[in-house]
Amino acid sequence: MPNLEIHQFPCLSDNYGVLIHDAENNLTASIDAPEASAVKQALAEKGWTLTHILTTHYHADHTGGNLELKGETGCTIVGPRAEADRVPGIDVLLGDGDSYDFGAFTAKVFDTPGHTAGHITYWFPKASLCFAGDTLFTLGCGRVFEGDAQTMWTSLSKIRALPPETVVYSGHEYTQSNAAFALTVEPGNAALQARAQEISEMRAKGEPTVPTTLSRELETNVFLRPDSAEIRTNLGMEDAEDYEVFGAVRAAKDNA
Ligand code: ZN
Ligand code: FE
Repeated sequence: MPNLEIHQFPCLSDNYGVLIHDAENNLTASIDAPEASAVKQALAEKGWTLTHILTTHYHADHTGGNLELKGETGCTIVGPRAEADRVPGIDVLLGDGDSYDFGAFTAKVFDTPGHTAGHITYWFPKASLCFAGDTLFTLGCGRVFEGDAQTMWTSLSKIRALPPETVVYSGHEYTQSNAAFALTVEPGNAALQARAQEISEMRAKGEPTVPTTLSRELETNVFLRPDSAEIRTNLGMEDAEDYEVFGAVRAAKDNA
């Protein structure tokens, strides 16, 4: 089976950039392009030549490098159809249900609106990889800027339904504050307690907490757990719909 190599690197203040490389076909994609200089440095370190940018959403900290990188490499920029007018240099427009072939690997595309109205998520089933942008974070989720709780919950539910072994990459290192918040929402979750401890140790050593696995998120990410009896009891929402519980958790984090 062909191998998809991955290289993650920090950039800007708290973003992550990711390169994926299909050596057999000599293809390299940047998942989003937070800033051209950091992406170019990462490419140089690996000795890879950029052929694609896979954009999750239009925010400047995800597209700021697009035009410079395209100008220098002629790479193909792939991104959300619903945000085509806001993604600099976009060539290929994708939306829910589309597939995009990247060498030996195929990305399945989901619309995951809420953080932005046109946000998309890329899932590579053969490689068990998901690039969730600013929709799902390690122990967190993106702020809902362009949509309501129900919209965002529907988007998160699509990611939640992927195989649990899926490795999930996301755009930011926000995990330590996410863990502290999560413990206020579901303090009796033993898996979360252990994970918060582990995350403190990782961050103290400067280690990234991205990527994560979906199985770990299902156990510990309070934004994916509106069906938790403890969370519902703590919020006084025993009989609410999942999206309503999710919305209350998101609102509490926004106001924390
Ligand atoms: Zn964003
Ligand atoms: Fe972002």
